[in-house]
Amino acid sequence: MQGNNGIDNLIVDAEKRCHAVFEAIDGIALYNQEKLLRAFQKSRISSNHFSGSSGYGYDDLGREKLSEVFAEIFVAEAAVVSPLIVSGTHAINLAFSSVLRPGDTMLSVTGKPYDTLYEAILGDNNGSLKDYGINYKEIPLSDGDFDMAAVAEYLKNAKPKVVFIQRSGGYTGREAFSVGKIAEAITEIRKNAPNACVVVDNCYGEFAEKSEPCEAGADLVAGSLIKNPGGGLAPTGGYIAGKSEYVRQVEYRLTAPGIGCETGSYQSGYRLFFQGLFLAPHTVAQAMKGSALCGAALEAAGFRTFPSIEKAPSDIIRAVEFDTEEQLVAFCRQIQYESPIDSFATCEPWDMPGYRHQVIMAAGTFVQGSSIELSCDAPIKKPYIAYLQGGLTYEHIKIALKKSLNVLINS
Ligand SMILES: *Cc1c(COP(=O)(O)O)cnc(C)c1O
Repeated sequence: MQGNNGIDNLIVDAEKRCHAVFEAIDGIALYNQEKLLRAFQKSRISSNHFSGSSGYGYDDLGREKLSEVFAEIFVAEAAVVSPLIVSGTHAINLAFSSVLRPGDTMLSVTGKPYDTLYEAILGDNNGSLKDYGINYKEIPLSDGDFDMAAVAEYLKNAKPKVVFIQRSGGYTGREAFSVGKIAEAITEIRKNAPNACVVVDNCYGEFAEKSEPCEAGADLVAGSLIKNPGGGLAPTGGYIAGKSEYVRQVEYRLTAPGIGCETGSYQSGYRLFFQGLFLAPHTVAQAMKGSALCGAALEAAGFRTFPSIEKAPSDIIRAVEFDTEEQLVAFCRQIQYESPIDSFATCEPWDMPGYRHQVIMAAGTFVQGSSIELSCDAPIKKPYIAYLQGGLTYEHIKIALKKSLNVLINS
């Protein structure tokens, strides 16, 4: 048994160990905060852009200005940002299905995509890419890294219209790719596939580094507004940013061909999207610091965790491996009990739509399912890895960590 003092000391030591990484994270947040501020100023955002609209939403200034700011921040020619995009899966699938036509091929160079994309790519009779006669090929990662030799070999004979890269590790047990690493991969890919549309799943990566995937040569990036770029305030939505020719296709797919984003209304208005975006670099930094602290403390308590806490990571996820299903479930439950919302609920594993294994999810969040807020999820399968992410404040993460360590160590 380790008393509360023991756990307090463990957290104090972990915090000391994180000193260098915290400084790196602060530097990134400062850089990105200024990028946001300058983008807001350049677009001359004012409070009349917060107003809602109704019906067709012609002349919806908030919609237009929000897209303009996103394009600027993601160093893209254009962007679609919309509360009508229901999730990250929706945004990423929009990118695929907008660009691809029957007979085209999509190549994933980061192995299996995130679980929920599987049905969108390969599902039967559900409007998947496969249903529309689009071919799909994936090249597995080799030791958690791009297998560029296999990619080059494949590209000798094939001309995929879309090349897909997932920045974050998702549930695969690898670390996120840095934007620098993605740039190297895209440079290699372009040698053999100069005209392919490179799509990056940017979920959990936004503002974790000073640059974003379009700066690495990506043609489209997509993600969810209830993750990093919503800053914890956006109530729903998703974004896609990149080259105008592709973004135009996305607009046509999101609404209707020939109409695009000349329409699209949102009665509730846009303040929370703008304000959340403005806060996002800071919120992401809070989550990243909390993630590093959890990594250092859980490692000291004897658990394997990744990514490494020696450098600033490329996403906000902290994976923690447990020895048993019981520990895994106990940890997720404790995160729920330490949430501001629904703290009285006990999480249970369930068959979540789009996932292949039972999943347990702790999300005692203000915005339903928001994972920029402190949340934890885990597929119930070996190895027993929980994916912890988010946290609107470092302090909240620290408090939840302390309680969770208590349960893990003293049970
Ligand atoms: C969360 C996530 C998605 C899917 O986003 P949803 O909003 O859950 O649909 C896709 N890819 C990655 C890497 C993610 O983390």
